[in-house]
Amino acid sequence: MSALECVLTELAEIFGDRISCSEAVRDHHSHGEGWQEGRLPAAVVFVENTQEVSTVLKACNQHGVPIVAFGGGTSLEGHVTPPENGISLDLSRMTQILEVNGDDLDCRVEAGVTRHALNAYLRDSGLFFPVDPGGESTLGGMCATRASGTAAVRYGTMRENTLGLTVVLADGRIVRTGGRVRKSATGYDLTRLFVGSEGTLGIITEIQLRLHGLPEAIATAVCQFEKLEDAVNTAVTTMQIGLPIGRMELMDEVQMDACIKYSKMAGYDVLPTMFFEFHGAPAAVKEQVETMEAVVADHNGKGFLWSNNPEDRNELWKARHSAFWACLAYRPNHRGIATDAVVPVSALTELITGSKKDIEESGLLAPIVGHVGDGNFHTVILVPPEPDGLARALELDRKIVNRALSLGGACSGEHGIGLGKKEFMEREHGRDALDIMRMLKISFDPNNILNPGKMLPDNVM
Ligand SMILES: Cc1cc2nc3c(=O)[nH]c(=O)nc-3n(C[C@H](O)[C@H](O)[C@H](O)COP(=O)(O)OP(=O)(O)OC[C@H]3O[C@@H](n4cnc5c(N)ncnc54)[C@H](O)[C@@H]3O)c2cc1C
Repeated sequence: MSALECVLTELAEIFGDRISCSEAVRDHHSHGEGWQEGRLPAAVVFVENTQEVSTVLKACNQHGVPIVAFGGGTSLEGHVTPPENGISLDLSRMTQILEVNGDDLDCRVEAGVTRHALNAYLRDSGLFFPVDPGGESTLGGMCATRASGTAAVRYGTMRENTLGLTVVLADGRIVRTGGRVRKSATGYDLTRLFVGSEGTLGIITEIQLRLHGLPEAIATAVCQFEKLEDAVNTAVTTMQIGLPIGRMELMDEVQMDACIKYSKMAGYDVLPTMFFEFHGAPAAVKEQVETMEAVVADHNGKGFLWSNNPEDRNELWKARHSAFWACLAYRPNHRGIATDAVVPVSALTELITGSKKDIEESGLLAPIVGHVGDGNFHTVILVPPEPDGLARALELDRKIVNRALSLGGACSGEHGIGLGKKEFMEREHGRDALDIMRMLKISFDPNNILNPGKMLPDNVM
């Protein structure tokens, strides 16, 4: 019997029909939402608790069978693509919300809970969880990719919002990291090490999260600009004057065109546009809106429209969260490569205007959308269905990343590395730092069974 057959036979006795080799289930687990080619896993195991994860990892480790965790499968860089003859470990049935501590503003959840499910559960508690990446992402997957989203400018990313974890190591040992306290000076920060480790160091099964009080008042505003540069400068100034903005998002005119068509947004011109949200006590929100209106006027914004109507707000953010799908619908038969460059905010205007020039010179269509308060923006480079389409799109992707790196930035602000961004790791971190990452990987996972081939470049591993 091969190593894989040994593992599957061993696990079949315990998991029964929670191991699937069906074509449809394997196909669903063969890829994320990115452009990379998928690969079928040999089997998919659906786990329901930490102990089961430990059982699966022990068996895989003993026989040297590779395994990749699968949460919501919404990642964009080929993160969940299974290794050759690998098993996909599906955590989406681990959906228990284990505790909510309103007095301390924290909660403990299983890894398969989605951010939507957590917020639905918290609805009447006056609390919410702010990190909001796309689709039905799970909190385990969000930890593993160190995700963020539209509200990170005010509430931080998964890094700031994760207090502690339960993690199963490659050999099946179960460890708890961090805890419920807001600060601790006790030893290496293992929580931060696992957050962003993309399933390469351990499998996260439970997460202790920070929660936040729902703001007493929320207002939204939209403003359009003739020039992209003016829109970006508005964001930069907002950060530099320290306005405690709740959300601040940019779309260029191409992205607006795609969103107007896809989300049937009425009353907007096809122009660079900024969306804002303000959180706080009513008087503070009013003051923030007034300051923002003045900043926008200084940067030639037109038609600053604000509202405190929840329906307007929901419509606006629904359109924003659909931006990726709007891009794909904009040119059917095109795949989309999402870029995710990030720079210190003072370099953002140079990055975005330079990237816009790169896009124009490439002759490709690549709408721009950005979490600009964090210095982070995306393009979805639409890959034309022509023989050289992918090569041209990847060349543009490289240009944008290299521009960000030369401005002191990073190749990914939130999507992570997976397969797609591995080639930039050495330029960004340097060889010595990569060697330390390799040493960590080897000490956590000496048999290299956990999501092998991801994150670290092949010449490092
Ligand atoms: C339309 C759209 C919009 C998006 N917008 C954003 C955005 O604004 N911000 C952002 O950050 N991302 C965004 N993303 C990317 C994606 O939603 C995030 O990366 C998300 O965090 C992935 O969560 P997931 O549960 O789908 O993880 P998966 O895709 O299932 O897995 C991602 C990685 O984490 C590992 N993993 C999953 N669960 C675990 C676990 N329990 N333990 C250890 N490793 C695990 C996997 O092996 C894989 O390497 C977007 C994606 C789409 C499709």
